[in-house]
Amino acid sequence: MALKDIKGVGPRALTLLSKIGINTVDDLVTHYPFRYEFLVRGNLAETNDGDHIIIDGKIESSPILVRFKAGLNKMNFRLVTNSGVVGVSIFNRAFLKSQLTVGTIVTVIGKFDKSKNVITASEIKMESLSNKVKIEPVYHLTSGLTNKNMALYINMALLSQSKEIHDSIPIKYQEKYNFSNKRTALNIVHNPPSKEKLKEAMIRLKYEELFEFMFKINYLKEENKKTNSGIIRDIDDSKVNEFISHLPFELTKDQVDAVNTIIKDLKSPNRMNRLLQGDVGSGKTIVSFIAMYANYLSGYQSALMAPTEILATQHFSNLKDIFANYNLNMALLTGSTPKKEKDLIYEDLKNGDIDIIVGTHALIQDDVIYNNLGLVITDEQHRFGVNQRANLQNKGQKPDTLYMSATPIPRTYALTIYGDMDVSTIKTRPKGRKRIKTIVKTNKEIKDVLELMYEELKQNHQIYVIAPLIEESENSDLTNVNDLKEKMTLAFGSKYKIDLVHGKMASAAKELIMREFLQNKVQILISTTVIEVGVDVPNATMMVIFNAERFGLSTLHQLRGRVGRSKLQSSCILISDNDTKRLEIMEHTNDGFEISEEDFKLRGHGDLFGTKQSGDMTFKIADLKRDYKILLQAREDSLEYLLNKESDANKIKLISSIIHS
Ligand code: ADP
Ligand code: MG
Repeated sequence: MALKDIKGVGPRALTLLSKIGINTVDDLVTHYPFRYEFLVRGNLAETNDGDHIIIDGKIESSPILVRFKAGLNKMNFRLVTNSGVVGVSIFNRAFLKSQLTVGTIVTVIGKFDKSKNVITASEIKMESLSNKVKIEPVYHLTSGLTNKNMALYINMALLSQSKEIHDSIPIKYQEKYNFSNKRTALNIVHNPPSKEKLKEAMIRLKYEELFEFMFKINYLKEENKKTNSGIIRDIDDSKVNEFISHLPFELTKDQVDAVNTIIKDLKSPNRMNRLLQGDVGSGKTIVSFIAMYANYLSGYQSALMAPTEILATQHFSNLKDIFANYNLNMALLTGSTPKKEKDLIYEDLKNGDIDIIVGTHALIQDDVIYNNLGLVITDEQHRFGVNQRANLQNKGQKPDTLYMSATPIPRTYALTIYGDMDVSTIKTRPKGRKRIKTIVKTNKEIKDVLELMYEELKQNHQIYVIAPLIEESENSDLTNVNDLKEKMTLAFGSKYKIDLVHGKMASAAKELIMREFLQNKVQILISTTVIEVGVDVPNATMMVIFNAERFGLSTLHQLRGRVGRSKLQSSCILISDNDTKRLEIMEHTNDGFEISEEDFKLRGHGDLFGTKQSGDMTFKIADLKRDYKILLQAREDSLEYLLNKESDANKIKLISSIIHS
């Protein structure tokens, strides 16, 4: 059944609903209330003068209408309630008069004037409070769509769905937990008869959502176990060790562990499917380079994917440095690679002349044919959803995969949402790194900030300055980068070069400025959050962030990670006039794991994956943190269900939804 076939949903409603992402009947019935209003029946004797009251009763006298002037009228009537008779007056509801006849049962919500025994109502509902408590769902809406209409559409949809609504919970678990069926649960969530029933129904719907999610994760995990890569690798460990001994620094213990584990994975006949997580600046990149070298030694091609061109370009130039004395063929492929060059690269990938290819996601898409792809690495891929993971694994060739993420996820959650992957964690920081000093300042203290910046510049160090907006905006007084560039030029322009990058610039222009910053031809780089991920300029020792309250703690931590990348003392200044309590957490800790735990406490899982989180990592009713116990149960049950030899229609449907997404 289509949305348009539901009684009461006309063309106008269709347009409004689609504005908030409701395009199917399923979208509609799972448009869950974001909160509930609890209406508790009051009692006249127990309500104090001036207090708010909700009370139902029978109309005793015909309403008297008084018109004061155009647009102002008042109606008075008497109401018989369980706790006595009370006068009711309400403004500007003349249109209700015909419905408010003697004997009608209504509920009145308003303010109680005890001495006059009158309720000045703000609302009159044409029904009684059937129980002592009435629970009203409150929905996310869009202008033109009322809460009442939304409730109506949803209820019409629930009524007119003749077929049973699709339910992912297998019968066995329905019975085990004594769950109601899906339609009943949906009905309760949209029309709660009591707090207890509502809670039960919500648990059931959350469980279903998490069951489906964990089923997919478990499925991927089991599939990974089954498929052998078929790559029989020979890796000469002595060559790898020699390469490591020639690096400009000594690997940290965690880096060594990660390298060893990855090489073991590469050698094993099972396909590697590993997440390498480590705080910003912990040195994940070099680990991936070593993995690519080992893969090269075994005779296979590697692909390194980065989320942005800037980052891909930086990786490429690092690779060229690190492998300067080795005979590897490497290429960079991004959106701005000229067509001719692109075609040549495709050609070389196909005939095996390229050993390592670096680029954006285009690398694993359709028309790129590899000669013998042995290893795929994705950098900064905390935004990779389950379905995308499945896609990558369904590619014709079966390369080993390594995902790198700088968003440390509390271990317990990593175990579940990355449950299909093995996880390596780098916790130790490279030697000699100092803690990034972080301070919160208000806009009034901007002079202090400029002085601190000047101190840094005098020592020939560089500075990042971040603001949330690109240009001035009418409906926002947030700082914009264009404005900042003018101000910074006024303050420092005579001695230092100041430049600007932002997301709307052409990538060639961005690239050029980034390179100038890297070469210290630019001393102050102003930017929006485009530099959030990965960029590495060790001589940059200060970061100043305007409107810091606009960012989640994890994002601020990522941004801050652009400094403190050498032995130099680095600092970060967060400028904000409000929300300073939250920001002060940043002053006290430099530990990404701790910060993500704090973020988790403050904002639920919302910020964990950044704003652009992958669609299948968002939940409609469940919350990873609040519903963690349900998540664990769903994980256990869905695995048991998956491993059970019997296959029912529900199972087949679940599996095909993973494969065909
Ligand atoms: P991230 O984990 O955030 O991707 P990078 O890989 O960019 O971090 O590393 C940050 C910086 O630290 C780079 O300049 C890198 O060369 C350097 N680095 C990595 N490992 C070490 C180490 N063991 N000792 C010293 N410096 C290191
Ligand atoms: Mg990195």
